[in-house]
Amino acid sequence: MEMKMKDVLQATSFRFNKALGQNFISDTNLLKGIVTDSGITPDDVVVEIGTGAGTLTRQIASVAKQVYSFEVDQNLIPVHELSLSGIDNLQVIFRDVLKMKDDEFKSIVGEGEFKVVANLPYYITTPLIMRFLESELNVTSLTIMVQEEVGRRLVAKPNTADYSAITLAVLLRGEGTITRKVGRNMFYPAPNVDSAVVRIDVDKDKLAGENKALIHKLVRSAFLMRRKTLVNNLNASFGLSKAEAAEKLIAAGLDERVRGEALSLEDYVNLSHQF
Ligand code: SAM
Repeated sequence: MEMKMKDVLQATSFRFNKALGQNFISDTNLLKGIVTDSGITPDDVVVEIGTGAGTLTRQIASVAKQVYSFEVDQNLIPVHELSLSGIDNLQVIFRDVLKMKDDEFKSIVGEGEFKVVANLPYYITTPLIMRFLESELNVTSLTIMVQEEVGRRLVAKPNTADYSAITLAVLLRGEGTITRKVGRNMFYPAPNVDSAVVRIDVDKDKLAGENKALIHKLVRSAFLMRRKTLVNNLNASFGLSKAEAAEKLIAAGLDERVRGEALSLEDYVNLSHQF
């Protein structure tokens, strides 16, 4: 019979490493819910980041074709011996995905399409999303547990406080949705923030033919000082005079006093055509 997570942690005298963002989930309904939200099927290869005690890993493996789960804390090996033994479509890899080149990653996971499903340490949320979105890897979606306020940023609309550079970084390559909110008490130990599950569906062909690097640079410039007008930000980061910057905004159909937080993705695309 499958052991309860807390019993496994106790039996192996596991000590939580707070610096690694170790807040584990054991609630079966929530774990199954995350897997449902991810939309994975028996045809899918899944990459999990942060195996932890392996509770989510086990649920993913019960649906997916093959699971590659990445973890950095080798102290979890005895835990996995109890929680993950006998799962034959699973490989746990003690490597930091953020430090691996695409080629190294492909040598483990293969060249084909895969989905990411993860309950992440929150300090790697943004680098991890960007690591996959900006790569040449065949990732088709990311379903990740994030801090609730980060979740709102990932799916925000223009002209709201949550609309940020990361919102547009997601929109440049796909579409994000919050699939569920998760209270802090669902974790062990409980963190001091609430969480949300976000699913990002990736469309590598989105905006094909557009200069995404330039659009990205415009977005970063616009949000560098978000209370300033776009003219001022373009002046600071593109070396344009204010008159030149205003001219480009007007040519793109925008008001010369506009702030970057008011521009939709389409507005940024139109503006990029003026450079
Ligand atoms: N997936 C498990 C769950 O849902 O219970 C564990 C989630 S816990 C929030 C995050 C896990 O990621 C921890 O086990 C931590 O050791 C691991 N971790 C931290 N940094 C990592 C990194 N750079 N790459 C892979 N795993 C990492």
